[in-house]
Amino acid sequence: MTLTNWAGNTSFRASHLHRPTSLDELRRAVTGASRVRALGSGHSFNDVADTTGELVSLDRMPYLVEVDSGAARVRVGASTTYATLAREVHARGLALANLASLPHISVAGSVATGTHGSGVANASLSAAVSALELMTADGSLVTLRRGEAGFPGSVVSLGALGVVTALTLDLVPAFELRQYVRESVPDDAPFGELMADGYSVSLFTDWRDTRAWIKRDTELPAEWFGTVAADGPRHPVPGMPPGSCTGQLGVPGPWHERLPHFRPDAPPSSAGDELQSEWLIPREHAADALRELRGAGDLIRPVLQIAEVRTVAADDLWLSPSYGRDSVAVHFTWIKDTAAVLPVIKLVEDTLAPFDPRPHWGKLFTRWPSCPDRFRELVRRYDPHGRFGNDFTRLLLGE
Ligand SMILES: Cc1cc2nc3c(=O)[nH]c(=O)nc-3n(C[C@H](O)[C@H](O)[C@H](O)COP(=O)(O)OP(=O)(O)OC[C@H]3O[C@@H](n4cnc5c(N)ncnc54)[C@H](O)[C@@H]3O)c2cc1C
Repeated sequence: MTLTNWAGNTSFRASHLHRPTSLDELRRAVTGASRVRALGSGHSFNDVADTTGELVSLDRMPYLVEVDSGAARVRVGASTTYATLAREVHARGLALANLASLPHISVAGSVATGTHGSGVANASLSAAVSALELMTADGSLVTLRRGEAGFPGSVVSLGALGVVTALTLDLVPAFELRQYVRESVPDDAPFGELMADGYSVSLFTDWRDTRAWIKRDTELPAEWFGTVAADGPRHPVPGMPPGSCTGQLGVPGPWHERLPHFRPDAPPSSAGDELQSEWLIPREHAADALRELRGAGDLIRPVLQIAEVRTVAADDLWLSPSYGRDSVAVHFTWIKDTAAVLPVIKLVEDTLAPFDPRPHWGKLFTRWPSCPDRFRELVRRYDPHGRFGNDFTRLLLGE
């Protein structure tokens, strides 16, 4: 079996890919393998989803999107993409509070790694989960709900507790946004004010020239932090055609057609000709950290396609990179050359080290954060013999 992740930089070592069509088939796949991992849409850039055992994809499970309009929540099958989910909830006048840069990713895989968008008041996509249904190592199904002990460890869980079969997510009333791109953001623009002047604001930078992508519900004033309005649609990577991007130039549109940078019907970002890394730091260190990275810009640029700076509100999920702290997320889209990029990843990690960085679990990094003991206990409880373990979780758990 040759199966790779989306970017093609990781070849999964699994001997078999199961695609069960029922919970019974899933149970047989889980209990019949000594090592097994769930695979989402495969958009992570490292080996977090890999296993030397067997992989399980839930993409052939019965379709499940159950909207409870009264309670403003949706119960959704694990492998559903945000693109599909967004269309369904929007049709019922509801919305997810936030989305990542692309809607192509599965809900279970995204929340398992703490995937996020931007917005000073917007927490990670994982924070929208109010319940999840989990098949554990012995094939039993457990439901974990917000407010129960263990729940905060079970959402961002990197597949280490079992196979999530369905999740319940919070919804909000549907809303419209306008998306603007502003160029030539001055280095000395007040970071906190600028990032707060929209529902979701991203800065795209090569650590020399910076552009802001602003998603907000009101028109952007002509004068905005000394920036210049883009004279047409833009792609985050300078020079790339903007056809894969969501509507810009301030034209109002539904939340799910503005919050992601990329449209669901086109390949996102550099279409896989890329690697990615990201670290989250406490928001109060943003100005200092960005200054240090600009100082290292000459060493970063040779392997950089573009960097993106976003804000993520704190959550209470133990392994979330934004656990317990309002954060700034500093993302790097690298050229697709692991050998050339790795030393620069280490350089960025050294540069960010004074600011207590936490890596995005689905992207490339070399420095491991410590694992909370209570997560280790949760793994022992649901997977006592390490059926769902892989090299990635063993490094995390310090085994
Ligand atoms: C072009 C591009 C843009 C991106 N933009 C963003 C962004 O804006 N913000 C951001 O935060 N991240 C972003 N990412 C990273 C991405 O969101 C994460 O890698 C996310 O985990 C991808 O989801 P997936 O379904 O592909 O998960 P996979 O990579 O398939 O799996 C990730 C983890 O989830 C586990 N998992 C998957 N399904 C299940 C299940 N059913 N039960 C239990 N565990 C499961 C896997 O075992 C693995 O540990 C981007 C990635 C790409 C390629």
